[in-house]
Amino acid sequence: MDLIELIKKYPNQESCIRFLEEKRWGNEIKCPYCQGVKTKRVKNEHRHKCYICNRSFSVLVGTIFEATKLSLQKWFIAIYLIVDAKKGISSLQLSRHLKINKDTALLLQRRIRKAMRESHILNGIVEIDETYVGGSMIKMSKKIKDEKGYYPGGMNHKTPVLGMYQREGKLILNVLEKAWSKEIRPIMDMQINPNSIIVSDGFGAYRHSKKAFADHFSMNHNKHKYNEGIYNTSTIEGFWAMLKRAVIGTYHHISVKYLQEYMDEIAFKFNYRKHPDPFETIINKAFERPLPFAG
Ligand SMILES: [Zn+2]
Repeated sequence: MDLIELIKKYPNQESCIRFLEEKRWGNEIKCPYCQGVKTKRVKNEHRHKCYICNRSFSVLVGTIFEATKLSLQKWFIAIYLIVDAKKGISSLQLSRHLKINKDTALLLQRRIRKAMRESHILNGIVEIDETYVGGSMIKMSKKIKDEKGYYPGGMNHKTPVLGMYQREGKLILNVLEKAWSKEIRPIMDMQINPNSIIVSDGFGAYRHSKKAFADHFSMNHNKHKYNEGIYNTSTIEGFWAMLKRAVIGTYHHISVKYLQEYMDEIAFKFNYRKHPDPFETIINKAFERPLPFAG
């Protein structure tokens, strides 16, 4: 679907609501508060009344679209533009395209990125590696610098990002405070199935993998070891090269505060690069993990 088709298909609020209702409920409207199915459409409104808990609700409750004054058509266009921009689109650009103010554009962008976060458990052969992003690209408030002890020019001026990639599967990125075992281990334990085979470089923070997982292949790059047959970290390393081009290309200044959300967007685009309709994927994901959004 191109942008013109999208606008024709969803010309107004009504058509967007119908589409979302169909997606979320099909033929059976369900109360998002009590899961009751005894409901009635409120006349002339996009709302439903629940006979079990007595509350009224719309299809937007508990989704990224909740409590927004912005038209759903603009939301849909925003999703389209964000998903379509291979190297990303800044909130400033988004605000110009949609004729909305900068803060609204940022909120939109942040919520859409939340829907992009993967919540899978990785399985099979999992490549793991870390990289550092930032330096001059990262915008950091003085307060954060003081708290974290960052000094311009030093390695600790950059922010570590952990990448875990399941062969033929999904990639998950996690922004770290510090690249050390104390932080990396719990993430691996939570997001990788213990029956998996881990492939990494010789970095000490992955050393526990031999015990914690089915097997661990450690490629000591210092000793010029890069693979053992199919066991290598070439996909994740290729991804880092791409990430660095994207970051430099579009986001000259990324705030550390938003870095995780930005990484989720980059990972989403990588994961769905061959998918025929990433727009619809976001809509589906918007209903997958409903929850209150603080902003
Ligand atoms: Zn109810």
